[in-house]
Amino acid sequence: MQKVPTQEIQLNTNKISVSIRREDLIHPFVSGNKFRKLKYNLLQAKAENQHTLLTFGGAYSNHIAATAFAGKESGFKTIGIIRGDELENRITENPTLKFAQECGMQFEFVTREDYRHKHEPGFLKKLKQRLDSFYLIPEGGTNEFAVRGCEEILTEADSNYDFVCCSIGTGGTISGIINSILPHQKVLGFPALKGDFLKDEIRNFARNENWELINDYHFGGYAKINPELIAFMNQFYIENKVPLDPVYTAKMVYGVIDLVKKNYFPENSKILLIHTGGLQGITGMNLKLKDKNLPILDFQ
Ligand SMILES: *Cc1c(COP(=O)(O)O)cnc(C)c1O
Repeated sequence: MQKVPTQEIQLNTNKISVSIRREDLIHPFVSGNKFRKLKYNLLQAKAENQHTLLTFGGAYSNHIAATAFAGKESGFKTIGIIRGDELENRITENPTLKFAQECGMQFEFVTREDYRHKHEPGFLKKLKQRLDSFYLIPEGGTNEFAVRGCEEILTEADSNYDFVCCSIGTGGTISGIINSILPHQKVLGFPALKGDFLKDEIRNFARNENWELINDYHFGGYAKINPELIAFMNQFYIENKVPLDPVYTAKMVYGVIDLVKKNYFPENSKILLIHTGGLQGITGMNLKLKDKNLPILDFQ
């Protein structure tokens, strides 16, 4: 992979420096960290001689978009089990599903109730009876192969940072980052959803203790946003020319800048933010915001 650019962020203080790693630039439509999470899964699927990838996601899922695209690029058939049977006749109205379909992904729409049982043996057994053999990638893409891919986000050149900050969904990305930091560095994770279960998820994969979760910036829960966050994202774009995604990276960046203001970080700290991508979700989010007569995300 080509070298991913890093960019300095404008701040009202010069006692601290904050930079952002532009993993969102890895691909214009497919999210940065989802690409990394798929890399070793695709190699494993090939090694197992599988021809089909099967995975799960919601209507605006970055992981669905990434799997559809990466699968096509690598010559796999892809199947997406999609949460919400009401979406079946509305694929073209949904930018994420439309993109995935154009990449050749085949969908199975399931009710929210069935979707909750997707990782249970009974649900998978039924799928296996109906479909040809497939390589299963969990929702959000997190497994040991995904974590290995995310261990490649940081490189030796990043040893001068004191803090590395990233957003958390299922915990795969942060686990990879945790495994690749040096003893003098600390990882701060910003969950994009409410709940305390993430620590255990991360402990399944992480091999050191230099990390902490900051639970104060989920903005009410997964994919919830408010006018303040939208205004922050639009202003951040004006000042830095960096588009953030509303579900993950915006909440993390908002949190870090708020913590800088509150003097959370020691003077002279060097902080690296990981932009994990997710920009494909903006079109869909703007459709929802327009429906609700709320201000939209404007990165022009
Ligand atoms: C999926 C995703 C995350 C969360 O990654 P996990 O490995 O699930 O914690 C963060 N940012 C973006 C943009 C994502 O799409």
